[in-house]
Amino acid sequence: MSMKNQVAIVTASTRGIGLAIANTLASKGTKVYFAVRRPDAGAALAEELKKKGMQADAVYFDASVEASAKEMVDTVWAKEKRLDILVNNYGGTDVNTDLDLLTGDTDAFFQINQDNLQSVYLPSKAAIPLMIQTGGGSIVNISSVGGRYPDLSRLAYGVSKAAINFLTQNIAVQYARQGVRCNAVLPGLIATDAALKNMPSAFLETFLRNVPLGRMGTPEDIAHLVAFLCSPEASFVTGELIAVAGGFGLPSPMYGMTAQKSQ
Ligand code: NAP
Repeated sequence: MSMKNQVAIVTASTRGIGLAIANTLASKGTKVYFAVRRPDAGAALAEELKKKGMQADAVYFDASVEASAKEMVDTVWAKEKRLDILVNNYGGTDVNTDLDLLTGDTDAFFQINQDNLQSVYLPSKAAIPLMIQTGGGSIVNISSVGGRYPDLSRLAYGVSKAAINFLTQNIAVQYARQGVRCNAVLPGLIATDAALKNMPSAFLETFLRNVPLGRMGTPEDIAHLVAFLCSPEASFVTGELIAVAGGFGLPSPMYGMTAQKSQ
């Protein structure tokens, strides 16, 4: 999968899934921009890759600052005169206020939806006209299985990811004729700060009983699929919502109650 001479932006890439995606794309010959809210951290990560002979740079992006999305895309375009890959990886919630409909905080519900949705909508809106100028490109949105399965809590997060799934499919349909592909990857439980620091161990154990492959995913599990979706080998793949979740959501409700811990 050679992806040489391609230019990519990966948002929220100082840690976790975003970092793994940036490193994986760079290892395939792509020039990667770490799009981050802490420019020093982004520059240091780019420097590390450059020392290993890869191509990388950093650009400012803060998902909560609306104007930074277009600035990010325009900055990369001004330097490179091309943009082939956009990975909208930012996403999050507040586990203290994002609860069920009745107990969850109303302002938090709308704020979380706004942050998550605009972190995909705004960069895509800025990038697509530029991608079209050079014959097309690939957008991958990092969604979540939480946008596919209703749950007892984290309503805002689930609703925002469901919206991102439908936005993904609409972008795919609307710009396919101009060479822009758009897909979403839906991670299950992945061992990153977001999951390990926010989820009580009892939750993690219960969740894993419902994962047929019986483990948490790694950021690299996500990065491998993202790299494929951005590659020429995926040139006929668009509008797909692909879970990387160890089979979560497939078994009957009995599965989690009867599966052995080691399964
Ligand atoms: P993570 O390890 O907690 O990393 C969060 C990243 O987001 C960091 O790079 C952080 O940068 C950055 N960030 C936070 N606020 C930001 C802002 N306002 N603007 C720009 N960047 C910001 O997260 P993760 O688990 O890799 O999650 C990445 C994506 O995967 C998210 O869309 C998430 O919803 C999705 N996902 C994760 C899981 C999971 O189990 N981990 C499951 C399903 C979906 P700093 O270093 O500056 O804080």
